[in-house]
Amino acid sequence: MRKFFFRPQDRSGDIVSLSEGESHHIRSVLRLHAGRHVELFDGDGGIHRAELIEMGERVRARIVSSAYGDAPLSVPLRVGQGLLKGKTMDVVVQKCTELGVQGLAPLLTSRCQGRPEADRDRKKHQRWLRIVEEACKQCGRARPMELSETEAFRDFIRSPAAEAAGLKLLFWEEEHEVCLRDLLPLDAAAGVCILLGPEGGFSAEEVAAAREAGWRTVSLGRRILRAETATLAAAAILQHLLGAM
Ligand code: SAM
Repeated sequence: MRKFFFRPQDRSGDIVSLSEGESHHIRSVLRLHAGRHVELFDGDGGIHRAELIEMGERVRARIVSSAYGDAPLSVPLRVGQGLLKGKTMDVVVQKCTELGVQGLAPLLTSRCQGRPEADRDRKKHQRWLRIVEEACKQCGRARPMELSETEAFRDFIRSPAAEAAGLKLLFWEEEHEVCLRDLLPLDAAAGVCILLGPEGGFSAEEVAAAREAGWRTVSLGRRILRAETATLAAAAILQHLLGAM
């Protein structure tokens, strides 16, 4: 069944008004008609079966039954990702959503290309939010991945989200002693936070600052992986170990 998101404020009783974007998709791309049943996600774990009732600029639907999907994860995985170029970051956002990552923080690191620019960054963030939504619909994830605003690496390593995690791992291709297997069983009851670098990797100063803030460096093996490969491999392995795949 086709899936769409709505915002809590767009629900009144059993009636939901879908956003203009979702409405356009329903009317003009999918060409669905009134009477068709769809699934509506409220973004908070609720999955509602609904009937399309009005096909105006804001399509309206009547909820006929509700259920609750994914519970919040007991051991959440959060990812801090050094900003990647162009579409590569889109891929990481999409795949981390599919893999059930709880939250993703895009990070400005010393080797990221380009500098912050408010207008462009806002547009990028909006695009990533849409990618998260589309990935949720595709994989049936009812609770979207949390996507933070882009922040500085040095702030993130001491952020409340990082501090709350029981296990904080920085994936570093120059770590030759410790790999993930050495950390089993994972001491992860309070959640896991991982850091992955941009195409140029982390600088020695960043690695030292993270270690000082309580992060452990860990290897993904002897091959140097492309940045996006490393992130998706690390996320998939950890989700598997945490029983969240
Ligand atoms: N510094 C390198 C360079 O530019 O030659 C490579 C950086 S790598 C392409 C990008 C990121 O992927 C790294 O910052 C790291 O987080 C992760 N990564 C890639 N291979 C890895 C490995 N074998 N072990 C741990 N992390 C790895």
